[in-house]
Amino acid sequence: KTFEELGLEPSLIRALIKKGIEKPTPIQEVAIPLILEGKDVVARAKTGSGKTFAYLLPLLQKLFSESESRNKLAPSAFVLVPTRELCQQVYSEVLSLIELCRGQLKVVQLTSSMSPSDLRVALAGPPDILVSTPGCIPKCLSAGVLQAASINDSLEILVLDEADLLLSYGYEDDLKALTAHVPRRCQCLLMSATSSADVEKLKKLILHNPFILTL
Ligand code: AMP
Repeated sequence: KTFEELGLEPSLIRALIKKGIEKPTPIQEVAIPLILEGKDVVARAKTGSGKTFAYLLPLLQKLFSESESRNKLAPSAFVLVPTRELCQQVYSEVLSLIELCRGQLKVVQLTSSMSPSDLRVALAGPPDILVSTPGCIPKCLSAGVLQAASINDSLEILVLDEADLLLSYGYEDDLKALTAHVPRRCQCLLMSATSSADVEKLKKLILHNPFILTL
């Protein structure tokens, strides 16, 4: 299949072509249409499978399509990752796709070294997309930089990337602190290389009736 047949918009397809990407990977072929439809998705996907674009492309398409109607106090999308390196990598990918599409979305990354005033500056606006390790979220809540009620009003898409590592790196309590405020209408996407007991636990915590993709 082509990206067009998966339902992707021409601006994103052109951005991919500029990156030398012309054909979807297997995970992208299955995940993109489901995510565009608004389904919760759990995908068994390793690094190198194209998992990042599998969630970023539909996420951006959804946010582009409604960016004019947005009047929010918190980001519309959270992408949570286990390490600072992956955070930087995902942040650069999002930024480059937005620039190549000449899109109007604002993305920020939060890192654990940021002070409360750094966090306040990063979240002023607020950005449309937040890329972060999970530990930053409770920090933002307790510093009053993010309000639980605003997350509940604004959050539309929550991505947990490398979900198996999120738990083995000890982020369970941070994720619980966030999921308490995730509204039921929020679309949740969980990417994981393995399907361990930890991932089962996360699925129960955040997903409502997901599609499970194993590739
Ligand atoms: P990931 O599995 O998300 O870590 O992606 C691994 C690498 O594959 C990244 O460098 C992407 O730029 C690249 N990539 C993602 N999707 C495709 C695709 N459809 N065709 C060729 N390369 C891709």
